[in-house]
Formats: sequence, C-alpha cells, structure tokens
Amino acid sequence: MSRVVLHNVSRRFGAHTAVDGVNLVAEPGEFVALLGPSGCGKSTTLRLLAGLEPCDGGSIHIGGVDLTQAPPAQRGVAMVFQNYALFPHLSVAENIVFGLSVRRVPAPERQRRLARAAELLGLGPYLDRKPSQLSGGQRQRVALGRAIVAKAPVCLMDEPLSNLDAQLRQQMRAEIRELQQRLGITMLYVTHDQTEAMTMADKVVLMRAGKVEQQGSPQDLYGQPQTSFVAGFIGSPAMNLLPAALLQQGNPDMLLGVRPEDMAMATDAALLQARVVAVEYLGAESLVICEVGPERGQATTGQSLDPSGASGPHRLVLRTGALPKLPRRGEVIGLTWPADAVHWFSPLGGQRITRPPPGP
Ligand code: ATP
Repeated sequence: MSRVVLHNVSRRFGAHTAVDGVNLVAEPGEFVALLGPSGCGKSTTLRLLAGLEPCDGGSIHIGGVDLTQAPPAQRGVAMVFQNYALFPHLSVAENIVFGLSVRRVPAPERQRRLARAAELLGLGPYLDRKPSQLSGGQRQRVALGRAIVAKAPVCLMDEPLSNLDAQLRQQMRAEIRELQQRLGITMLYVTHDQTEAMTMADKVVLMRAGKVEQQGSPQDLYGQPQTSFVAGFIGSPAMNLLPAALLQQGNPDMLLGVRPEDMAMATDAALLQARVVAVEYLGAESLVICEVGPERGQATTGQSLDPSGASGPHRLVLRTGALPKLPRRGEVIGLTWPADAVHWFSPLGGQRITRPPPGP
C-alpha cells in the first residue's frame, strides 16, 4: 500500500493553466475520487501522476519517494482508461498479461497472476475470446485485470465506467470498490459523475478550473460545502440556491442554500410561495420542480410572487416521500424548511458563511 502526495502541482498548455497548484493526499488503501466539470483538469492531474505529462511546478511523491521526474514505468502505478485500451488482435488472456510479458515476468508467474485475476473478475470462461466478442462490462473487467496482475500498489482510473449503461455502471461501481478494498490498493479515480464519486470514494477532491475547490469525505462535501459551487455540484438533485432577497431576510445579496430533501410543502406558515412547473414521480419519492420570482416575460411588480422584486424566476426542487396527493403543474404551493437546514454563501466568490445573518 502506498501513500500518494501531490504538492502544489501545476501543468500549463501554452497560456492555459490546466492544473493550478493542486495539493492532495491519498492515504495507503484510500479511494480518492477526482471530481469536477468537463475541462477542470481531472485527467491532466491523473496523467501527471502517471508520468504521462511533465509537471511545470510542484512535486509528486508515491510511497515516500519523490517521483516528480520519474518515467511512468518507475512509478509503480497501474492505469485504466475510459476506452479500455485493449489490443483487438490479442485474446483476453494475452491482453491481461501483456504488460507482464513486456516486463519479462516468467511464464509460470504470469499464469498464476492471470488465473487469480480471472477468478476475481469472473473472466475464466472468456480468456480465449477477442475483445470484440465481449460486452462493454466484460471489456472493462479485462482492463481491470491488467491493473490487478500488475500488482501495482497504486491504481489510476480515468472515467472507467462512462461507456457502460446505467445498470452495469452501478454493478461495476460496487465491483471496483470491493476489489480495491480487498486488494488494499490506493485508488485515484477520475469522474464527472458526482453520484459515482460520492458512492465509491473515501475522499472526494472536487476541482474547478484547475484548482481544488474542496476535498474531504463525501459527508463533508454534502454537509458542509465550503462554496456555492460545491453546494451546487454535490447532491442529486443539487442544492437549491436562492438570493436571500427572495425571502427578505439577512443581507439581500447573500445566497441561501437548501437541499431538496430539506424542503417540504408548508401546511400553515410558508417561508416562500412557488409555482409548480413539473412533477417527477419516481415511486418511493417524487421531485416537485418549482419556480419562484416573476414569471418569464412578466414585470417584477404586479402579480409577481417575488415580493422583493429580485430578478427571476429561480428554479428549485423539492424532494418528497410518498404524498397522498401530489401538487399539479401551475399550482402555487407554500414551501418551508428547518432553520438549521439553511446554508449561507457570500455573494462574491460564493464562500460559505458560518454565522447566519440576523433575521428581518
Ligand atoms: P473531461 O471531464 O472533459 O475529460 P478534465 O477535467 O479531465 O475534463 P483535462 O482533460 O484535464 O480536463 O483538461 C483540462 C484543460 O486542459 C482543458 O481545458 C483542456 O482543453 C486542456 N488540455 C488538456 N490536454 C491538453 C493538451 N495536450 N494540450 C492543450 N490543452 C490541453
């Protein structure tokens, strides 16, 4: 098991800084998800770790050794790519042990490792097939098999499940997590899917424009988002963010965040009136999508639901359990939430404000 440390790592492409002073630590045996929107620098960070890109600044230590300048083969990392990178003309077995053959690992040892990986991944019946004769999930397992036989203490995965359908993705998430724990591998896993990161990782590193916006356990990012960007990225559906002006409380410029699961339909005093624009019935729960503020194309006075005149409309989502009767599109409903469920963010930069503002 190996500890991975990135210290102030940067990478520039011309005038563009793709990775900008990234600090992160993956403890031995930890599963770290690098999460963030497209283009935020996740893959580049992984490639820097693998040695596939040179660092323009900072250092990379793996297992306590400075490997910033080391070539990929000396880093003790295995990498699994989104496109699996399998050789079409080689069999499953040959694909799995390819790296071992290149490194001249003796044949009996290759066979031992192949047999173990095939057993772990349930690939035994497919070892003689070509990749084209496999399903997407089976190809993904072959790519994982390569990482397993390499016995590298650190494994890097770049969006490994993005080519699979939703059901298989869910199954493979559990399989990868189980394997990683069983083998005690230190895992760095790139994804833009917050559900994937939250369900698999011990630690989530959320990146934005080349920098780390926040890192911590999934519970930290969900419960204590340090910026409105984190609040809006984590959670499905994401946190509702509204200008405080809509509620006429505190500094009207501040942003107020309430998670869809913390909102409820008010039976008496409502904190906010909202128009229902859609209802998504999901069986055990429903999502009620509402708008607050003036309707599109309407002046901010007159019939507006927005007492402050702040620009709108603002969309928000309420997540409810089973209700005897769901609201209908066009209906105006009252919304409420507990005071301690509110997150406050500054209008500039969206930083979390820990001290709630005074009431009106
Ligand atoms: P995605 O989820 O879309 O794969 P990402 O977060 O992995 O995105 P990167 O692939 O790391 O993002 O790219 C970060 C930024 O660096 C992007 O703006 C990208 O266009 C740029 N970039 C990446 N590789 C190169 C390159 N070889 N040359 C020039 N620019 C690059």
